Amino acid sequence: DSALFCLCRAGFEPELAAELSERAARAGHPGYARTQRNSGYVEFVLEDAAAASRALPWSALIFARQKLVRLADLRGLDPSDRIAPMLAALDAVGGAGLNVSSFGELWVEHPDSDEGKPLAGLARSFGNALRPALRKAGWLSKHDDPSRPRLHVVFLAGDHAVLAMSEPLDSAPWPLGIPRLKMHPDAPSRSALKLEEALLTLLDPEERERRVRDNMQAADLGAAPGGWTWVLMRNGMKVTSVDNGPLRQALLDSGRVDHLRADGFTWQPKRTLDWMVCDMVESPARVAERMATWFRENWCRQAIFNLKLPMKKRWEETRICLEAFEHQAHRPLIVRARQLYHDREEITVFATPR
Ligand code: SAM
Repeated sequence: DSALFCLCRAGFEPELAAELSERAARAGHPGYARTQRNSGYVEFVLEDAAAASRALPWSALIFARQKLVRLADLRGLDPSDRIAPMLAALDAVGGAGLNVSSFGELWVEHPDSDEGKPLAGLARSFGNALRPALRKAGWLSKHDDPSRPRLHVVFLAGDHAVLAMSEPLDSAPWPLGIPRLKMHPDAPSRSALKLEEALLTLLDPEERERRVRDNMQAADLGAAPGGWTWVLMRNGMKVTSVDNGPLRQALLDSGRVDHLRADGFTWQPKRTLDWMVCDMVESPARVAERMATWFRENWCRQAIFNLKLPMKKRWEETRICLEAFEHQAHRPLIVRARQLYHDREEITVFATPR
């Protein structure tokens, strides 16, 4: 059977399954999800996975770290020769009309789960063994070629691997769908990584250049201890940081940060700001409503905010909050939402008027 194979944060399989089911059905590609709690992946079975994949761009999926089209499900692999069955499987799907002369790159991966993580060593060494075999058989270009589809081998166990493919322009550009960011020693909190990842994944390079500039004016709602403020400041912005809690002294000493001890749900700027970011821990419905007010009143040109998800019905809550946000903003918006690698029980949203 034909299937999409998507990676996600372990524990969020039901959310990804619900998202895929709902969005695929709406796009005219009904199917059903096969999941296992805490496995870190979801298989979505349907008639034409390649067509469904085109209808569901990776960048528009909230809970998928990576989106692949499955080519084969190889179980009971013999550890002494896992390569031959893979080549045979490729020949079989090639014979069945796989529209690929050769792949541009090979990634050997595993789910980011308790069961998947111990497979990292195998993935690495197996990749080194498989790559030359694929080249010899003509399945892999001599040099990495991002203009061609990418081949993925995802190990689910030592004797179980999924063979899949992705389009480099319609998939996460990082193995496992995880951007590797290093915590800067000066960052006031680990949360800084969240905003860095948001800027990296929710904006493309051209947008980052245009939208993130020196001397822009920003507000940070729920700023303490200051990780997000620090990221904005490091990008040259002047920041009003709103929080009743304390900020790191180094931020205040920078001369670029004003600390306001105020309520982020009532404070408003005197004039339109370039950016507003918000990481207040509050119900997602309340945050979404306040964010909508900012756009309705034209208090900011763009925003990045977090929606903390409750423990139950997280997909439904996500959809309802995003719909309410767009509706209450009373203007057409570009909205991109994603559960980032550094997001736990939450998603991150970028919004700007269309
Ligand atoms: N983004 C911050 C960082 O990078 O260091 C971390 C923010 S922390 C997750 C949430 C913050 O929201 C807390 O410091 C809390 O005081 C603040 N907060 C919660 N409700 C608030 C409100 N109504 N007004 C202002 N701040 C609020």
